Amino acid sequence: MKPFLTVIGGGLAGSEAAWQAAERGVSVVLYEMRSQTPTPVHKTDQCAELVCSNSLGNNLPHSAPFLLKEELRKFNSIVISSADRHSVPAGGALAVDRDLFSREITNRLLEHPNITFKRDEVVEIPDEGPVIIATGPLTSPRLSEAINQIVGQKYLYFYDALSPIVDANTIDYDKAFFASRYDKGGDDYLNCPLDREQYSQFVHELNHAGKVPFASFEKPIYFEGCLPVEELASRGPKTLSFGPLKPVGLPHPETGRLAHAVVQLRRENKEGTAFNLVGFQTKLTYPEQKRVFTMIPGLEKAEFFRFGAIHRNTYINAPAILTGDLDLQSRPGIYFAGQIIGVEGYVESSTMGLLASLSAIAKMSGKIFLSPPTDTAMGALHYYVTTKPPKHFQPMNINFGLFPAKEMGIRNKKVRNQKVFENALTSLDRWKGSTEEWVNSRV
Ligand SMILES: Cc1cc2nc3c(=O)[nH]c(=O)nc-3n(C[C@H](O)[C@H](O)[C@H](O)COP(=O)(O)OP(=O)(O)OC[C@H]3O[C@@H](n4cnc5c(N)ncnc54)[C@H](O)[C@@H]3O)c2cc1C
Repeated sequence: MKPFLTVIGGGLAGSEAAWQAAERGVSVVLYEMRSQTPTPVHKTDQCAELVCSNSLGNNLPHSAPFLLKEELRKFNSIVISSADRHSVPAGGALAVDRDLFSREITNRLLEHPNITFKRDEVVEIPDEGPVIIATGPLTSPRLSEAINQIVGQKYLYFYDALSPIVDANTIDYDKAFFASRYDKGGDDYLNCPLDREQYSQFVHELNHAGKVPFASFEKPIYFEGCLPVEELASRGPKTLSFGPLKPVGLPHPETGRLAHAVVQLRRENKEGTAFNLVGFQTKLTYPEQKRVFTMIPGLEKAEFFRFGAIHRNTYINAPAILTGDLDLQSRPGIYFAGQIIGVEGYVESSTMGLLASLSAIAKMSGKIFLSPPTDTAMGALHYYVTTKPPKHFQPMNINFGLFPAKEMGIRNKKVRNQKVFENALTSLDRWKGSTEEWVNSRV
């Protein structure tokens, strides 16, 4: 029998994966369960349905989300080309007419001679590879159980608890100081001290800030070790200063005095170009996060690479269990793509579909998958999901904090982003040239 690629899930990632493989002459069997089995949020049976916003994010030159889209355009992405064709005016964002967008993607997939489309829920992982699992944040319970069986409960999560990430260049280092609690671990943490007055104002604002309500299908199940910061604040005025903001073991290096409370920030990457606010998972709205978190001394001018969140999401601890080829270390040929791999967002999910597809095609062609360079947006995401220390792994959207530090020293943000942007596209062209040798050798 002719070898074929199985793609499970016709969402953003699965549609992109199936399309990229089919365009390169690979036979694809694409499974999508909707119309037979619903999810709690999808409303149609169309592929690549946008479950919430109709925006695919920032489309302004020199931003990280725009760069990712530009890179996908170079690969003739079905998601981005359909979005471009059905865009609607939305300021600096790429927003789409969601019905026309999904309908076009569905039709292009249905009409493709190399794709066999099956409307079925997959409940077991096929024995025969290669298989791309792209079933997203709302993977059906039966398939989640099958994934659980092969990856292990320890590596499969059902909620995101994301802390905000700030640009290191925008922190005030006259106020924040490096130190580890009781001096264990050198300067691993950056500490923002609050006096009594600042602390009580901060807690007051946390208690009164606007929050995102839980969706009907999301029960607010909190794990005690992972409570939203505003939930802790609501339990009493001292809860935070005796919890994640406790100052003990963190005297100020110059005065030796203990603050009333301390917000700790941890490096997001080796280079220290981005820091996350430890324990600040939150349901506050994005504008409220900006307003309240910039009350923290040292963060008054902070710019956020990513805001915090808590929402339902099925995802695996990719760096612990996947190879750089995006397949399971324990079951080569079983690839994961999309949100389930630990990226956030429509475009990021599509990107992982493209990469998993190229990797599977390489394997089917007896070639070695060359991962995208880390100074491209695709490469930065790929690097994150395959190498982030598993203990600190959280789903991630594209942002310049994921890029190598080379240009991060340039203080002028506009100049820096422009440089990163130009390097990325040059680097991507080079990589694309080398991938074409193996991916097109099948056609
Ligand atoms: C409620 C919610 C709102 C979101 N809002 C946004 C937003 O506004 N902007 C944004 O950028 N991102 C948003 N996201 C995050 C994310 O970008 C999207 O979920 C995105 O659709 C993920 O793409 P995906 O391909 O990984 O998953 P999906 O697009 O969800 O595709 C997965 C597909 O797999 C199918 N499937 C599931 N299980 C099976 C099975 N067993 N067999 C066969 N098929 C199966 C599903 O029906 C679905 O079509 C949101 C997520 C959620 C849950």
